[in-house]
Amino acid sequence: MRIRIANHSGFCFGVKRAIKIAQEIRKERKGKVLTLGDLIHNKRVIEELRKEGIDSVDDISKINEGTVIIRSHGVSPSVIDQLKKKQIEIIDATCPFVKRIQRLAKKIVDSGYELIIAGDPNHPEIRALIGYTNGEGVIINSLQEIKNLKKKSRRAIIAQSTQDINFFKEIVSRLIDITNELRVLNTICDSTRIRQKSTSKLASEVDVMFIVGDKKSSNTNKLFKIAKEIQPKTYFIENADDIKPEMINSYEEIGISAGASTPQDLIDEVINKIKGIKTNKCYGERESTWMN
Ligand code: SF4
Repeated sequence: MRIRIANHSGFCFGVKRAIKIAQEIRKERKGKVLTLGDLIHNKRVIEELRKEGIDSVDDISKINEGTVIIRSHGVSPSVIDQLKKKQIEIIDATCPFVKRIQRLAKKIVDSGYELIIAGDPNHPEIRALIGYTNGEGVIINSLQEIKNLKKKSRRAIIAQSTQDINFFKEIVSRLIDITNELRVLNTICDSTRIRQKSTSKLASEVDVMFIVGDKKSSNTNKLFKIAKEIQPKTYFIENADDIKPEMINSYEEIGISAGASTPQDLIDEVINKIKGIKTNKCYGERESTWMN
């Protein structure tokens, strides 16, 4: 049996950075340190942060003191204004790639283009982003929604940083038919692109595939969709307990990929669980490195 791990599985640059910032601020500040919404979409990590003294608060009205960490998804300018009015210290851990998307969105709308955002309206990154467009950005989350768009002379399209590249390409090809001048800005971050590409490749080479991550994680859901289309025997698992012997017993090549908010220890537990189920000798692969 061989266990193969997709390149760039687990924490991305933006997630690592946000966690590091939060932990450093926790050490430096005496008062409350809070995150506005969960810092990342992973229950285990959020619980560990809570134990370290970094609590997650969803509702801004409940924050009256201390320091607030802005998570990697960012927040809209109105949220920053509300926190400033309350004289709350703000530490901005928005991923620099997300910041760039926010700046681009503002610039595009200010230049008079209709802005199409390929993203999930309920995802915090998109809820924040729409605030940089004065509410004028048009969010497209399904191909069906494109049918509601009218012909336009000038449009621009950007993507949620974790968007599925195939979905983005499909929207672009359909917008061409109804737009005279279309500006395409591929804002899917490199980490997401590489992860999706290596997950697709691995899914095409293995007998069974596991995507590890929290069900609430948007980028993990997209990885699952991408892998499932290529390898129908793909399972979305939150932890090692979700793996049952019948999922792997008859297979030799087992692939693993994980979302940007999945910690390495969770991936290691999954590898160990598979090794435990399989009685024969096994080894794993990450890029060209072999593991015992
Ligand atoms: S997925 Fe990309 S844009 Fe989002 S936090 Fe990670 S590195 Fe930043």
